[in-house]
Amino acid sequence: MLPVIALVGRPNVGKSTLFNYLTRSREALVADFPGLTRDRQYGRVKHGNRPCLVVDTGGIADDAQGIESVAREQVQIALEEADVIVFMVDAREGLSASDRAIAATVRKLAKPVILVTNKVDGIDASVAAFDFYALALGEPVLVAASHGRGVPELLERVNALL
Ligand code: GDP
Ligand code: MG
Repeated sequence: MLPVIALVGRPNVGKSTLFNYLTRSREALVADFPGLTRDRQYGRVKHGNRPCLVVDTGGIADDAQGIESVAREQVQIALEEADVIVFMVDAREGLSASDRAIAATVRKLAKPVILVTNKVDGIDASVAAFDFYALALGEPVLVAASHGRGVPELLERVNALL
């Protein structure tokens, strides 16, 4: 079994965009509205030199009702399967209550977590990242998933934990 990287974070932060970049596919649907990815989606990471799998999730939304609770269950399964958790936040939106809730959830799992601040294209990334130190998950990796910026650094951090 290959090592598994789970992508989690609230809807719309760019998880599926990163998934597609890592797997060089367009399998995960990317949309401007939250909650599109309902199920777990697996792909083989095509970058870097270490074979591993990445699993995309629908994200953890605030309200665990109806279809959202199904998505939430998928996130739980993905988290249990994961060897490394990549927790993505949105540099443009800043730190939110959902981010704090997700941080609490992933911390409980006692698995390695890499904090990734996405959408740093065209903004002052270090200023944008500053907020997220409050999550106490270490130094965030700054990425722009839609351009692949920061992905080599992210994969280095992942490999160091596998
Ligand atoms: P998910 O819900 O977390 O899977 O997020 P998606 O991958 O569907 O992306 C949500 C939105 O953010 C889409 O409109 C993406 O095009 C946009 N997005 C994703 N990555 C980036 C990025 O690096 N920079 C910018 N500016 N937008 C991004
Ligand atoms: Mg998605």
